[in-house]
Amino acid sequence: MKIVSIETTPLLCKFKQPYHWAQGVSYGAPVILIRIKTDKGITGIGESSASPDCPTLLSILEDAIPSFIGQSVFDGNRLIWNYYRDGFNARGTGSASRFFSQAMTGIELALWDAIGKSTDLPLHKLLGGQTRDTVSYFGFIQGDTAEELASHAKSLVEQGFGVFYLKIGRGDDLDEEITAAVRRAIGNRRLRLDANEAWDMLRARRMFERLKPYDPEFVEQPVPGRLGAEGLARLRAMTDIPIAADQTIYSPEDVYDICRSRSADVIVMGLHETCGVVRFRKAAAVAEAAGLNVCLHGIFETGITTCASNQVAATLGNMDDGNQIMWQLLDEDIVSSPILTPRKGALPIGDKPGLGFELDEAAVARASAAYRSQRRP
Ligand SMILES: [Mg+2]
Repeated sequence: MKIVSIETTPLLCKFKQPYHWAQGVSYGAPVILIRIKTDKGITGIGESSASPDCPTLLSILEDAIPSFIGQSVFDGNRLIWNYYRDGFNARGTGSASRFFSQAMTGIELALWDAIGKSTDLPLHKLLGGQTRDTVSYFGFIQGDTAEELASHAKSLVEQGFGVFYLKIGRGDDLDEEITAAVRRAIGNRRLRLDANEAWDMLRARRMFERLKPYDPEFVEQPVPGRLGAEGLARLRAMTDIPIAADQTIYSPEDVYDICRSRSADVIVMGLHETCGVVRFRKAAAVAEAAGLNVCLHGIFETGITTCASNQVAATLGNMDDGNQIMWQLLDEDIVSSPILTPRKGALPIGDKPGLGFELDEAAVARASAAYRSQRRP
């Protein structure tokens, strides 16, 4: 089954409400919808998370696409890494590998979707089958003020979530205020905090002491990812609060470094960081060998990524029970089915072919129009 064309559609999927985190406030998710058309009439669909913006990722995709045309959808590994060699390293731009991963993940997901549709098998069957019946997710608390966050936390409790996740790194006093408010709202349920690289070492140590009374299950990426595994290892030696590694990790090699240096208690990563399904599973295997669990990382994404991630997570033995999804932040998802709202914090594993979703073409058109209307001249 040969690739006839690869279409890219930049989208802006607006958020329901402003998204508050350590790096500021975000109002929507830029993504690039990828459609791979084949000579058998099957279309595989994926998406690339397009941070910092769509034009940056589109330039990589437009450069890559010609090398995929006329090739087999079953040759993704060779095609992707040949392009890495010829399109990146050969031009001395190997430092752009993270952009490469974001762009290629969209193509890889679309290839898997086409393969699944052509074989009438869901992705998890193609990967060897599921190891669990459901994948579990945390309640992702949204809002700005302590009152808003506590109110949303209570509604997530009512929805049956058992693990909760709060963005901090927004200012020391505010961090303590919102953590205290959320702790009161959720009782003794599990609470995870994500500082998104906001602190230096000394500040992190100070904040750990301030936040300790609220019993965080872990604090995620307290210090900048550029400090690497060594930075997290130094911090971990200073506290008994568990540490999650997020922006330190983009590859199986990064996971190896974390494991080797014993610098985190859990690995947080997603398909768009690791360059898709194949490398995600390699990275997860490295963590498993070191006895560490992997927590799915959500970024600016739609239900397409949720469908793919949920199936991949179903195949792995060392997935965490409080994973992250972000489609629910969107004012309107571009996936019309399946239902991706967790029940009691869990999603079932779909059995539809490929990634297993139906695209809402009208929603795609609206997100495409939103992208065009906000585009800088
Ligand atoms: Mg994080």
